[in-house]
Amino acid sequence: MTFDEAGLCESLNKNVVKSGYTKPTPVQKHGIPIISAGRDLMACAQTGSGKTAAFLLPILQRLMTDGVAASKFSEVQEPEAIIVAPTRELINQIYLEARKFAYGTCVRPVVVYGGTNTGYTIREVLKGCNVLCGTPGRLLDIIGRGKVGLSKLRYLVLDEADRMLDMGFEPDMRKLVASPGMPSKEDRQTLLFSATYPEDIQRLAADFLKVDYIFLA
Ligand code: AMP
Repeated sequence: MTFDEAGLCESLNKNVVKSGYTKPTPVQKHGIPIISAGRDLMACAQTGSGKTAAFLLPILQRLMTDGVAASKFSEVQEPEAIIVAPTRELINQIYLEARKFAYGTCVRPVVVYGGTNTGYTIREVLKGCNVLCGTPGRLLDIIGRGKVGLSKLRYLVLDEADRMLDMGFEPDMRKLVASPGMPSKEDRQTLLFSATYPEDIQRLAADFLKVDYIFLA
C-alpha cells in the first residue's frame, strides 16, 4: 500500500504530503488497510515506527467521510474517538499529529492530561471535541465530571499499552473501558499498540478487543 492507495480524502492527503510523508512505514503499510476495514488490531510497534499515523489516518479518514458533529460549545461533548497514552509527552505528540492531519477539516482533536489547569482543559473540551486524546487519569476525571459522553464513540485506541501497565494504569484503563455509556467491544473499534506482547498485554487484548482481532508484529 502506498499513501495514494490508502484512499485518503483530498484534505487528509494534502496534510500527509505537507508533513513530508512520502512512503508509508511498515506498520502504516500493513496497519492502515486493517484499520480502514473496520477490524480490531493488536499491533506490536515501537516509538519511531510511525504507529501514530497508522491509527490516526484511517480514523480521521472515516470521520471525514462519514461526517462528524460540527464543533460548537456544549456542556457535554460526545467524541467519536478516544486515544489513550501513558504520558503527557506522548499524548501531546499524538495530539499534535492529529491536529496536523485534521488541519482545515471539520474534525477537532483535543488533548487532556494531568498536571495542567483542569478548568482550562475542560473549557477546551467543551468548545468541541471529536478526537479526545488523554492520559488515563485525566480522561477518567473528565468523563466522571460528566463533561464527556460516550454515546458517539466509535474508536478507542490504547497506545503504549505495555508502558501503561508498567506505570500502574491497568485499573484506570479497565475503569475507562467499563465507564457508563462506553460502547461494548462489539459496538466500537479497538486498537491496541504495545512494544512488547507479554501475557498481561495478551489478557488486555482478550478483554478489550473483539475475538477476531488481528495481531500485527
Ligand atoms: P511515531 O512512531 O508515530 O511516534 O512516529 C515517529 C516519527 O516518524 C514522527 O516524527 C513522525 O512524524 C514520523 N513519521 C511517521 N510516519 C512517517 C512517514 N511515513 N514518513 C516520514 N516520517 C514519518
